[in-house]
Amino acid sequence: MMMSKKLTLVLVCLCLVKLVYAQSSAPNIIVILADDLGYADVGFTGCKDIPTPNIDKIAKSGVVFTKAYVSYAVCGPSRAGLITGRYQDKFGFSDNPLMAPNDPTMGLPLTEQTLGDLVKQKQYSTVAIGKWHLGAHQTLRPNKRGFDEFYGFLSGGHDYLPENFIFNDLSEVKSQFDAYKANLLRNNQRVKETAYLTDALSREAVDFVARNNNKPFLLYLAYNAPHAPLQATKKYLDRFENIRDVKRKTYAAMVSAMDDGIGSLLTKLDELKLSENTIIFFLSDNGGPSHVNASSNLPFRGEKGSFFEGGVHVPFAMQWKGHITAGRTYNNPVSSLDIFATVAAVADAKPKNNLDGVNLIPFITQHNKGVPHTQLYWRNHKTNRLAVVTAETKLITEKDKKPMLFNLKNDISETNNIAELSANQNLLKDLDLKIIQWQNLLLEPKFEGLLDDKKYTSEHPERWIIKDNK
Ligand code: CA
Repeated sequence: MMMSKKLTLVLVCLCLVKLVYAQSSAPNIIVILADDLGYADVGFTGCKDIPTPNIDKIAKSGVVFTKAYVSYAVCGPSRAGLITGRYQDKFGFSDNPLMAPNDPTMGLPLTEQTLGDLVKQKQYSTVAIGKWHLGAHQTLRPNKRGFDEFYGFLSGGHDYLPENFIFNDLSEVKSQFDAYKANLLRNNQRVKETAYLTDALSREAVDFVARNNNKPFLLYLAYNAPHAPLQATKKYLDRFENIRDVKRKTYAAMVSAMDDGIGSLLTKLDELKLSENTIIFFLSDNGGPSHVNASSNLPFRGEKGSFFEGGVHVPFAMQWKGHITAGRTYNNPVSSLDIFATVAAVADAKPKNNLDGVNLIPFITQHNKGVPHTQLYWRNHKTNRLAVVTAETKLITEKDKKPMLFNLKNDISETNNIAELSANQNLLKDLDLKIIQWQNLLLEPKFEGLLDDKKYTSEHPERWIIKDNK
């Protein structure tokens, strides 16, 4: 009898050990994506007029990637790259998708596996909060793309003040930008939100973590802040009485609201003792459109939409307490495409498709002293503009235009085009060949994008006759 009790005790202990091990071996994943945030507009990249103490906590607690790139210079394609770990042009996602709820081809093709799909293999709870922008057709929505839960909106942007949410559902939406003023979705149901949008998204993120504290989770928190329209509440505007420029002041308030929300999320993780078993990524989806939202990409040239550093070089930090020592910087080029591969590795999940990103953890910890990428690439299909970056050099080519070659090591502002120097001709040829080889891997666009809004509507007269008005 005594032996039997002892045996039971041993078995219980073994089970507990196994349970603790299972929990510690499957880290939670949080991806926080800001929208149109300027490179220079967070504390950890040197911002002086907008305090971001909570975003900076992520940077201080982990690693700052000083040469971090996104895979495109505007929202939709950049998100398609991030959420699949693949160059989005490899599956024809070359432009911002239009709001076209009847069109099953307008968004992320079903051949692609999302971050949500990936970790569902490992029984993660998954949520997408905020901006989706990967398709509004029922088959393309978050709940069909690997996310158990969704709270947010399907379009490429949204108003922030709930009194502006004047359309109940898609049956009332009659143009591309009407969707900015539609009620939010909780899964497939329209809901009446009453909070400032950024606060609402933060609230949902905190709530999701609190409800999933005893199983591994993936939280994809895609704030639309500080994307236009510039709207903020008095609470946040009052923090920036020192900023006279009204645009910059409102932008600062929007960034500050996002930072508060990230603070409440970090506090909740601490309260639940989850901080050490949670990887948090923070980045922007593209450079700031300075003339639109008064963001700053200094010292970089260019802005959102451009392949200069100002369009694609973003603030990017990551923490994994207890696994990655605090206060690190990593200076080799990395990509937003690496998030997927990193998550696959730490969650021990098998990607369905070939990835273009790599697991960053061995590089951060210096177990791998090589570089994650010898080159990173971009294509703007519409303008036939292509770019490649290496550790030190960037080449931008465009049909019927002279190539632009920059030495990023001593000219990070890309002011001095060195393409015509005779000493650089071999390098130019080599990089041009690399671009051509990469371009051969890409598909033609699978859908018409934002710039074809009117053309698309004339070709699809049923566009706003919504079959499923949700
Ligand atoms: Ca964006």
